[in-house]
Amino acid sequence: REPLLKVEGLTKHFPVRSGAFGAKQFVRAVENVSFDVRPGESLGLVGESGCGKTTTGRMLVRLLESTSGKITFQGEDITHTKGNQLRKLRQDIQIIFQDPYASLNPRHTVGKIVAMPLQVNNINPPGGVKKRVQELLDTVGLNPEHYNRYPHEFSGGQRQRIGIARALALKPKLIVADEPVSALDVSIQAQVVNLLRQLQKDLGLSFVFIAHDLAVVRHFCERVAVMYLGRMVEIGTREQIYERPSHPYTRALLSAVPDVTKLGAAGRIKLEGDVPSPLNPPTGCVFHTRCWKAQEKCSAEAPKLVATVDGSTAACHFPETGKLV
Ligand code: SF4
Repeated sequence: REPLLKVEGLTKHFPVRSGAFGAKQFVRAVENVSFDVRPGESLGLVGESGCGKTTTGRMLVRLLESTSGKITFQGEDITHTKGNQLRKLRQDIQIIFQDPYASLNPRHTVGKIVAMPLQVNNINPPGGVKKRVQELLDTVGLNPEHYNRYPHEFSGGQRQRIGIARALALKPKLIVADEPVSALDVSIQAQVVNLLRQLQKDLGLSFVFIAHDLAVVRHFCERVAVMYLGRMVEIGTREQIYERPSHPYTRALLSAVPDVTKLGAAGRIKLEGDVPSPLNPPTGCVFHTRCWKAQEKCSAEAPKLVATVDGSTAACHFPETGKLV
């Protein structure tokens, strides 16, 4: 099937001044990232904080302009869409934020918050705005009669449901969910993820699901993309990534979550050193300063994303093979 969203060579460099003379440098937040999302699919974007996954998500919804690269949505180049067309695009691509409380205006009623996208876009739903708001509250498992309450009257999980209702108001096709459950209690996380799953099924929604929690991603996403220092290092189906990861970084990341891999503490791959600065990333493979498999070629030549014997696509000169045990 044709992808709903296609991302090619997406790059974001932030200019900064540093050093005694304030020389201009660039934080290479996202570097040459490519992937696609098919209709009705959920793609997980994972990696440690600072790996560029949130910046990537923001470029997709055009909250951030890319430095270079191309974003195609439903066959249309949306990389530099502006004005009215951007407003129209925002009906199709919505974002859910990590902190439901910070993203809801505390002085507005829930009804006003959920109705806002309809009003901004001059949309008069059949039966009126109030009816549509109540339908949306019902869809996300909230009491439709609570539309005139304020955000502080709801729990964290309920507030995230309000954020989801607002994101659904314009009937989007794609939702970028940026760490949508990481601010919630663990007991509530599963409920919200199950709601998103239900919406994906009922409404045929596609998701780019940004998260650092690999257990949540395994539960929700059919395909997974792993990022490190602004680069895409591996992408594959859930089974390929979780059972037979090829990139050493993917293996290390998964081995740190014993309940995902059943490896236990003894199987943990401990990475030496810190993530290098995105101001001055290592030459060649950016993971070579921490990789236990690194050889001379790794610091000299950047590996390209290529198909591996285990089925995923990975950027590594010496990929691992076989089951992660
Ligand atoms: Fe490690 Fe080399 Fe592969 Fe990079 S290219 S992940 S340094 S083995």
